[in-house]
Amino acid sequence: MTVSIDTQGRVAIVTIDNPPVNASSQAVRAGLLEAVTKTEDDPDVDAVVLACAGRTFVAGADVREFDLPLMEPHLPDVIAAIEAASKPWVAAIHGTALGGGLELAMGCHFRIADPMARMGLPEVNLGLVPGAGGTVRLPRLVEAELALTMIAGGKPILANVALTAGLIDAIATSDLLDEAVALAVEHAAPRRTLENAVVGASDAEAFDKTATGLRRKVRGQESIAAAIDAVGRGVRLPADEALAAERAAFLALKSSDQARALRHIFFAERATLADPRAKLTPRPLQRIGVIGGGTMGVGIVSAFLMRGFEVTLIERDEASLHAGADRVHATLDSSAKRGLLPDLDAVSARFDTAIDYAALSDADLVIEAVFEDMEVKKQVFARLDQVTKPDAILATNTSYLDVNAIAAVLSDPSRAVGLHFFSPAHVMKLLEIVLPGAVAEDVVATAAKLSKSLGKIGVLSGVCDGFIGNRIMSAYRAEADRLLIDGASPDQVDSAMRAYGFPIGVFEMQDLAGLDIAWAMRKRRLAEGKISGGYIRIADRLCEIGRFGRKTGAGWYDHVDGTALPSEVVMSIIAEERQTMEAVGKAFATEDVMPRILGAMTREAEAVLAEGIARSAEDIDVVMVNGYSFPRWKGGPMFAARSAGG
Ligand code: NAD
Repeated sequence: MTVSIDTQGRVAIVTIDNPPVNASSQAVRAGLLEAVTKTEDDPDVDAVVLACAGRTFVAGADVREFDLPLMEPHLPDVIAAIEAASKPWVAAIHGTALGGGLELAMGCHFRIADPMARMGLPEVNLGLVPGAGGTVRLPRLVEAELALTMIAGGKPILANVALTAGLIDAIATSDLLDEAVALAVEHAAPRRTLENAVVGASDAEAFDKTATGLRRKVRGQESIAAAIDAVGRGVRLPADEALAAERAAFLALKSSDQARALRHIFFAERATLADPRAKLTPRPLQRIGVIGGGTMGVGIVSAFLMRGFEVTLIERDEASLHAGADRVHATLDSSAKRGLLPDLDAVSARFDTAIDYAALSDADLVIEAVFEDMEVKKQVFARLDQVTKPDAILATNTSYLDVNAIAAVLSDPSRAVGLHFFSPAHVMKLLEIVLPGAVAEDVVATAAKLSKSLGKIGVLSGVCDGFIGNRIMSAYRAEADRLLIDGASPDQVDSAMRAYGFPIGVFEMQDLAGLDIAWAMRKRRLAEGKISGGYIRIADRLCEIGRFGRKTGAGWYDHVDGTALPSEVVMSIIAEERQTMEAVGKAFATEDVMPRILGAMTREAEAVLAEGIARSAEDIDVVMVNGYSFPRWKGGPMFAARSAGG
């Protein structure tokens, strides 16, 4: 039975059991409606507890039903029936109550949660707004401003925050179900959320200010704008009118292109590791070594520590070691301040540092994040070959270099793999798992499991210059340079990318990250003969005069007091290079920019796919959305191109 009813004394316990996440599928909705009738009709029942079996409360709608016609009973009707019941209903929340799950809980008359529970309305992330009363009930339980932030931001809140805000009535201190039953016994009458006044309704000015702030972050994602509007109606209109308008907005968005694109990426992210090797038994991982405590090493160490691993950081000298360790502690401290690390001391106790590689003798996995230089990486791997256990996995975080060549210095190359983290590594979700030719199958399985243990999305990639993401990025960066030669300005390219939905354009991005690293890479490629005809020298010339980006106050733009201004120097270098290349440099319309950037992206992506570097077009979309800020609501470059092409 998807929904079952037991009794404890005079309290009925209605349990949803719909693995894996108790999604509010048709069977669940029908079962709940029946449970309302049964409990209302049962003279031996005074109150009802709504609970879920398995690892979570209702974690949302059944996304597989989204592309089907709506099936009765609809969730708003089920929730209305619960809210209208004459006997009090208590929601007992564990795991996550998300979307329809939280709406269901808000339709109940009382709510109690496990201390680790999280609650939210993340519909915007699937291109929707809540469709079962979320925008109307939430601001009747918590401050309207918080409701707005939760619904437009789509991020869940923790149980303690929910309690303070008024979303739940209690946090269970021992057994959730027993305490929910006690709460049900305590309350003789229902207490209906819709009968509450809006919380903080008098402060309309603060609400409008928050709404205006959020609107600035919308960047073309329709669902966020629609969510702000819906909460606005939920706060201002009579509840029944707001509910009807919310449902209409939900239904309109459900069949929108953006919702389809967001569903595509949602499923694509869950399918990246559907590889037979990922199902094999992984090697055990507990002790991790990280070589190099620079930008990446610090993030990688922090990511592992935050997820319960023991980590030893190795640097080349005491000064670098101290600097790296200090930055690890600073990263952990700031996470702890934001409530993300309950026990900072325990986390720090798992962290160790050393200069001598002998400290890695019992490591299960070592990741090198030293300079992007083949000789240095080979030396590091050769040392690791001598000091580590024979079955320890040795990984490189290289951005572009040949992982096969790095693996070849090992006596057993089958234990080498690329683990390409993104910066900052403790925040960014993407992990490219780069598979050299000789890689052992259980090393693939271990890397796949590791990506999950770190809370990341692992994507398998073959070996090539730049793997999936950096290779595609190099191609569209080169196209951006060609656009300059053809007449566009850096500002025009960046504005067009922002208008498309990128948070930042390619030239602004280079100024942020620093132009020097890519310069070094181009010099290497030139030396290796990998760059030939049509090479555009603009970026090299900027580097030659020390314009490395924000850190030097100048790059593609002049950076004055935190503002990026178009630069005369850059424009004149562009003009000179146009002349050298005998280009005409015609006037460029901003609408001509994106088709060329996207064209370059998809051409390279098709090549990456054809060569078997990426397993699927979906994997490419996941990489570009999660590592390169491709607008999620466009589904990734492959989805966007294929949708546009019909
Ligand atoms: P970085 O220059 O900030 O840090 C490199 C660190 O390695 C330095 O602290 C240096 O002291 C240390 N080091 C150098 N040789 C060493 C050795 N033999 N033994 C021990 N320590 C040594 O560089 P980074 O940006 O952290 O990049 C590191 C690697 O990660 C590179 O391969 C880079 O391509 C890759 N990567 C960088 C990014 C990024 O955004 N910065 C993203 C993904 C991957």
